[in-house]
Amino acid sequence: MRIKIDTEKCEGHNRCFVVAGELFELDDSGYAHEVGDGKVPAELKEKARLAVTNCPELAISIDEDD
Ligand code: SF4
Repeated sequence: MRIKIDTEKCEGHNRCFVVAGELFELDDSGYAHEVGDGKVPAELKEKARLAVTNCPELAISIDEDD
């Protein structure tokens, strides 16, 4: 599994960081980015899905097969 943030859509609400801080980091302006290459460890898959459903801008996508 891999997560990806559409930086055009991200408005910096930081909900992703609140629900899955292991998978997201914030830049100096409060916008989120994937940690590393976005690869999601098996134990964090549910958190990744939670982040997707909590993003009000629908900015986070998941590739289940990557
Ligand atoms: S919740 Fe969505 S809009 Fe908010 S910082 Fe995360 S990716 Fe960006």
